Amino acid sequence: MHTVRMPKIINFGKDALSSTEYPRNALIVTTVPPELSDKWIAKMGIKDYMLYDKVTPEPSIDDVNAVISEFRDRDPSILIGLGGGSSMDVVKYAAPEMGKEKILIPTTFGTGAEMTTYCVLKFDGKKKLLREDRFLADMAVVDSYFMDGTPEQVIKNSICDACAQATEGYDSKLGNNFTRSMCKEAFEKLYTAIMNDNTEDYPYGSMISGIGFGNCSTTLGHALSYVFSNEGVPHGYSLSSCTTVAHKHNNSIFYDRFKEIVAKLGFEKLDLKADLSEAADVVMTDRGHLDPNPIPISKEDIIKCLEDIKTGNL
Ligand SMILES: [Zn+2]
Repeated sequence: MHTVRMPKIINFGKDALSSTEYPRNALIVTTVPPELSDKWIAKMGIKDYMLYDKVTPEPSIDDVNAVISEFRDRDPSILIGLGGGSSMDVVKYAAPEMGKEKILIPTTFGTGAEMTTYCVLKFDGKKKLLREDRFLADMAVVDSYFMDGTPEQVIKNSICDACAQATEGYDSKLGNNFTRSMCKEAFEKLYTAIMNDNTEDYPYGSMISGIGFGNCSTTLGHALSYVFSNEGVPHGYSLSSCTTVAHKHNNSIFYDRFKEIVAKLGFEKLDLKADLSEAADVVMTDRGHLDPNPIPISKEDIIKCLEDIKTGNL
């Protein structure tokens, strides 16, 4: 048996943000300053809402608890996570704790987090990746309106992440016909959009990618990427090389076209300061990504991948 999970309602496409009806007395949770959130909220056309805009980037369980203690007694009708991953992660955790439904509205694209049961929060200073059914959105609203004003580099990193997730997800041993259709469709849409500079198609591609990989997993590319993240390289940028080399290792059907989108987006070669053998040891502990990889991986394979990334032998 296979199970797939996705939000009960997904509103997407042109004017999804302003055409969606939001309940009164909702609590909007965001990370951005009022100059920006005022504009977004006006566009939503939402009335009689409460606003919490003190979520910190890379939020912790303390951010969740701050929302709960400030608003529990004010009894919001629903929680709305408006922003990047940080706002959505806080709402994913806080809403079920408060016994409320949630709407997720991504303003940066790529992670597909609005579609998934994943939630990333810090506990005692350490980032943890949680996955529970209760983190799923009741409604997601996906609108390319937010692309305007997002820095170009953020968009490039996000869209590279979406392509990596779709193609690694397609190859995941945890996948099934449904996830493979979604992942393949996501990459086709994103590939065409990137090669033709149709940025307005990015949010839809990312959304489909989220439904696909969110119901299976990512694989070797993501496992390799975290040693670069540890040295401060943005997630999407590290995947430009890590997923390429992973696709080469796995003989992925997406290898050539993934390389094409990386070249088109203009990513530069990655560097790694850590000792390769020590870095490979760290990667080897990431069973969550390595076990579903389509072919088995040894420590020597990992070292070879890391060497190829450093020398640009992709
Ligand atoms: Zn990712």
